[in-house]
Amino acid sequence: MATTATMPTHDLLINGEFVKPAAGEYVDVHNPATGEVIASVAAAGIHDADVAVRAAREALQGKWATMTPARRARVINKMATLIAERLDVLAELETRNSGKTISGSKAEIGQVVEDFEFYAGAVTKIMGSTIPAPPNFFNYTLKEPVGVCAQIIPWNYPLLMAAWKVAPALAAGCTVILKPASPTPLTALELGKIALEAGCPPGVVNVLTGPGAVIGAHLAGHAGVDKIAFTGETATGRTIMEIAASTIKRVTLELGGKSPNIVFDDADLEAAAAGAVHAIFYNAGQSCDARSRVLVHEPARDAFMERFVAKTNSLKVGDPMKPEQHVGAIISQRQLEKIEGYIGIGQQEGAALVCGGRRLDGAHARGNFLTPAVLDKVDNSMRVAQEEIFGPVAVVTTFKDERDAIAIANDSIYGLAASVWTRDASRAQRVAHALRSGGVGINTPISIFPGVPFGGYKQSGFGRELSLQTLDLYTETKGVVMYTGTKSINLFGG
Ligand code: NAD
Repeated sequence: MATTATMPTHDLLINGEFVKPAAGEYVDVHNPATGEVIASVAAAGIHDADVAVRAAREALQGKWATMTPARRARVINKMATLIAERLDVLAELETRNSGKTISGSKAEIGQVVEDFEFYAGAVTKIMGSTIPAPPNFFNYTLKEPVGVCAQIIPWNYPLLMAAWKVAPALAAGCTVILKPASPTPLTALELGKIALEAGCPPGVVNVLTGPGAVIGAHLAGHAGVDKIAFTGETATGRTIMEIAASTIKRVTLELGGKSPNIVFDDADLEAAAAGAVHAIFYNAGQSCDARSRVLVHEPARDAFMERFVAKTNSLKVGDPMKPEQHVGAIISQRQLEKIEGYIGIGQQEGAALVCGGRRLDGAHARGNFLTPAVLDKVDNSMRVAQEEIFGPVAVVTTFKDERDAIAIANDSIYGLAASVWTRDASRAQRVAHALRSGGVGINTPISIFPGVPFGGYKQSGFGRELSLQTLDLYTETKGVVMYTGTKSINLFGG
């Protein structure tokens, strides 16, 4: 256990400086793999949030929104460079704070670098348009930053989710108040430091650590905040949308999922099984786009399940700092218990637990580890097929034909992502088009790239991240109409 004397303490980043919270309160940050306290961070309160909003407003005008695009692009590029230079250190910090595997942290921070590079390149291409007009009129649009953005992020991909929000906001000329999730604030604070070092003027990136229900909710209703971008649970998103309504704030919501992984009998079953294992058990299943529902074509059921269960059983679970580990720790004891609860519910509903679902003992007993679980014989109406478990639990359902597969896949309140495995290209396209989800991967476990829009249909939210389209969500479009004639316009006559 770390002692107070050696434990790092982090303040709030407001207006370019690390400052103590007004109420003087700090909270412990834990390592989910060991249970140790690894840091203490400031718990921001309402007053701190108000100061941060003022700083972000002042930084908007006269500093960031008015900086030349080329210079702004250089600053964002520099952020990418600094993150790349510190990748190993940041990855270690991310793993210690979130419990995710070190190989996962390194891969994700590699993506963070690419995201900043992508949006740095986009800064100088944010353009309005000229619009066909009658003679003597010159009509055009301007793209202007939305303004001050509060960005609230979850604990499952702390730095990656921050990058998905901060990079496009900065590119568009917005200023940011970043609110990391309470369990995982450490890499967001490092990102704040990097922004300053890269040349973001004070107040452009502010980082408020602390309880979401207090400051997150306050920012969502704050008249000085122009936009709220939120990633987290659907229930929290609903609350934020309600609060944001009071000021007609711009809102984007990236919420939960219960994404299907559809395996047809003509698929390469070896590749499909490997892909399905990765798609649910990466990050210990704590992914919004985890393909947690495995839908298998009846004729391929036995051959697929044999491979899927064998590959699941071969995953290495444990100390996430070891490079060979596949599955790290669950974020908290509470989350671990919630996941175990769902495994029990599934069994009561009639599903069969064919592997996993065990805690680790011995040296790992103090960490929140659970072996990857597969629940077979699941009907899509069961709670384990309808509710987001957010842990290493796959549920398996069989389907008869293409129509049946699409119907089952779409029978969900969520619509974030999906995968399709088949050798039939026509079928792949037909199914991809019929699925009500924001993204579809065909014959691939990888479906996230900086230029490809990411976001939800239905109750998985609205708005997109990771694409040029996202810049529209951080800009306002102003229509300008100019009369260029010489004779005055006098519509009332007289
Ligand atoms: P959460 O909703 O509990 O918390 C997310 C953030 O909201 C945290 O920073 C939290 O402090 C803050 N918050 C909590 N209550 C709030 C309130 N009343 N007002 C304002 N802010 C508040 O979610 P989580 O448990 O951190 O993350 C897991 C969830 O995130 C899962 O449902 C997952 O599917 C979802 N997620 C979605 C995406 C996506 O892109 N769609 C990506 C990652 C995670």
